[in-house]
Amino acid sequence: MEMGLSLDETKEEFDPENVIKKFEEISRNAGKVQEETLRKILEENASAEYLLNVGLNGRTDEESFKQCVPLITHEVIEPYIQKIMNGDSSPIITGKPIPSFSLSSGTTQGKRKFLPYNDKVFDTTMQMWYTSFAYRNREFPLTNGKALAFVYSSKPFVTEGGLIAGTATTHVFRHPKYKDLTKCIRSQSCSPVEVIFGSDFHQSLYCHLLCGLLHYDQVQIISSSFAHSIVQAFQTFEQVWEDLCSDIRFGILNERVTDPTTRAAMSEILKPNPKLANMIYYKCLGLTNWYGLIPELFPNAKYVLGIMTGAMEPYVKQLRRYAGWLPLVCADYGASEGWIAANVNPRSPPEEATFAVLPNIGYFEFIPLNETRNGGAEPKPIGLAEVKLGEEYEIILTNFAGLYRYRLGDVVKVMGFHNSTPELKFICRQNLMLSINIDKNTESDLQIAVEEASKLLAAEKVELIDFTSHVDLTKEVGHYVIFWELSGEPDENVLKECCNSLDKSFADAGYVSSRKVGSIGPLELRILKKGTFNKVLLHCLSMGTAVNQFKPPRFVSDNNKPILQIVCGNVAKSYFSTAY
Ligand code: AMP
Repeated sequence: MEMGLSLDETKEEFDPENVIKKFEEISRNAGKVQEETLRKILEENASAEYLLNVGLNGRTDEESFKQCVPLITHEVIEPYIQKIMNGDSSPIITGKPIPSFSLSSGTTQGKRKFLPYNDKVFDTTMQMWYTSFAYRNREFPLTNGKALAFVYSSKPFVTEGGLIAGTATTHVFRHPKYKDLTKCIRSQSCSPVEVIFGSDFHQSLYCHLLCGLLHYDQVQIISSSFAHSIVQAFQTFEQVWEDLCSDIRFGILNERVTDPTTRAAMSEILKPNPKLANMIYYKCLGLTNWYGLIPELFPNAKYVLGIMTGAMEPYVKQLRRYAGWLPLVCADYGASEGWIAANVNPRSPPEEATFAVLPNIGYFEFIPLNETRNGGAEPKPIGLAEVKLGEEYEIILTNFAGLYRYRLGDVVKVMGFHNSTPELKFICRQNLMLSINIDKNTESDLQIAVEEASKLLAAEKVELIDFTSHVDLTKEVGHYVIFWELSGEPDENVLKECCNSLDKSFADAGYVSSRKVGSIGPLELRILKKGTFNKVLLHCLSMGTAVNQFKPPRFVSDNNKPILQIVCGNVAKSYFSTAY
């Protein structure tokens, strides 16, 4: 029943059909596989101080586990992690010492978290990649070709105790087996590693675009971790396409790329090619509003791949404009804490994408959402085999890297089952909430409201570039503030209508009744100057966030002062709702 994929095994004989066969098998026995996975996790880590402290005493069954081990958030495990980072190599959270740490993005809460990373996590990454690749390849077969992958590796650093800390993706890129992995899934990056590891994100992005164009007829996939990076890349293309053409025409790299290592690597592949430069130039001139840019530039591309769900959904519209008729394929569901579920229905559009839980990469529990929302007593999670169709849950993770009953903070909905393993839709992050008194609005409520209101922009031929929100409590009566960055300048009356629409779209009973009695003030729509979200991105990068992980914050709290200052300091116009 075990998948037991290891790279060495698969390097020569990686067979997608075999991977599918194995996944079908384990997903048919999801409950049993979970039990077995938990047993292995607890067996391997029986000597860990954390498990001894809670009194597990080597027991490995589900019942004892649930009885002894409490549900935790990151704060509880933090002191243990700190001890390991300081160099204590005794069994603290795992049987074998943790060799490295990954860092969560922290873009939502303004604070990055350190999470244990070991070879087991790399193995699960591999399994996840193979599984979703196998299902994807059945629908969109690839030959050996290239991927234009907008990936940027951030610099890892060494902790006080001499351990490596970096983003989860950086650990993957730096793993000695990474190249074999990309070979197996038939999509070597068009960019040399020097571009991926480049010291400056803007320079790397420019070079990724250039490398893609130089390999234009071999590119079969356009990808990034999050859809945001793909949109950002082609927005940049709109600005720099003439420079890119000129570089290709003369075989000389633009001066904006100053990093000597990157320049040296690029000079190996950049040779004068006026024919290619002309072709790209005239293709670009022929496009209207850049619709279908990706398949025009890369005629053999099969699909665009990246996370397009959850916080990335607002970018799907812009992505569709660039992707034209190419399918958009949603990438898998996981976090720096660990992988969870794979997209095994790659033809589903982003709006309908679901993720099938891999029952052998971790032990998963689910708190019915009505329990957490109602507060009060300790929530009672249920097992993976007990979840119900159509219900929403907060997901709890136990993995091979020392996290036990860890509340990830994500809300998911069970949309169906792949054999007996649940297919989840990502709903939102639990802790993101616009709330003043009895009103409660999540990230997805905000997203729905923004989507509804921004429909009014279509007639003006203006696009919403990005958005965020804030609760303004500076006056006696608090109110919601929504920030929008737009591609153009719509009519004033349209913006007033948008503002009213936003106010009306928050439909939870708490908000509506508070607005009616005036205990929440009129919603305010603030239009930002162009480039404001780029400033937010640059600020986050300067604080150490990796480009690959960046998710624009959808809610800015009073505690996140630097970002609040950026958005509040770049307001061009503001409107108050008259909807109530
Ligand atoms: P990070 O904190 O940087 O590790 O980001 C992990 C978080 O990104 C997860 O907890 C989710 O909230 C979000 N995420 C990851 N994968 C997906 C996905 N496929 N769809 C929607 N959100 C996702």
